[in-house]
Amino acid sequence: MKERRSAIRRRNAKRRKAGHVDRPFIPPDKRYRNTIGSIVAWALFRLALVLTAALLVYEYVRWIDYSLWWALTAVSLIVFVVYPIQVQYRIYREETRNVFTGTLCSTCRYFEKTGVLCLKLDEHVTEDYIPCEGELWEPAPVMPGEEE
Ligand code: SF4
Repeated sequence: MKERRSAIRRRNAKRRKAGHVDRPFIPPDKRYRNTIGSIVAWALFRLALVLTAALLVYEYVRWIDYSLWWALTAVSLIVFVVYPIQVQYRIYREETRNVFTGTLCSTCRYFEKTGVLCLKLDEHVTEDYIPCEGELWEPAPVMPGEEE
């Protein structure tokens, strides 16, 4: 199985290198703008900026009192950290909806939903691109309560 997996990886890499891959061109409007990882990374980056700014304001702006500082910090966290997370996650869900419902990978045990990733080949899956071309597909285990 391991040999088969690495053979598929090698074959895909060779095809890509040769420039005549059957991997379709994905137009920019169909590429995913966010992943769970990028959403978390940007949230942490914005959180660090907001907290740094809040501490600087607390340290150097003398006319601001403690309760106002707390209120401003809370509002900044909501506006610059929480709200963008919501927006990015909504976009992510909309863009990846078809992958979760209409692809072979969505029924495969190696499909990892949060990363829209094939765990077997460590490649991202899209609506038009199934990295193994169906060769490594195995049914996803049915969880209790999911039976029809
Ligand atoms: S069908 Fe193939 S590419 Fe898709 S998740 Fe399963 S093993 Fe990976």
